[in-house]
Amino acid sequence: MKAGIHPNYQKVTVSCACGNTFESGSVKQAIRVETCSECHPFYTGRQKFAEAGGRVDRFNKKYGLKQQ
Ligand SMILES: [Zn+2]
Repeated sequence: MKAGIHPNYQKVTVSCACGNTFESGSVKQAIRVETCSECHPFYTGRQKFAEAGGRVDRFNKKYGLKQQ
């Protein structure tokens, strides 16, 4: 590789809002994420309670639709 033109790729600790941390590689010093494979519903198979206040819920309230 040509010297001086590549960013410093290094190991970095990614910390999630749920408290989970894991190692990854990045040019950044530290990474904060809102969701990770430990807390995302796709991986856990659970629905997060926080999603009840999301866009779908607001739409249903606005147009007076009952949730199934
Ligand atoms: Zn997480």
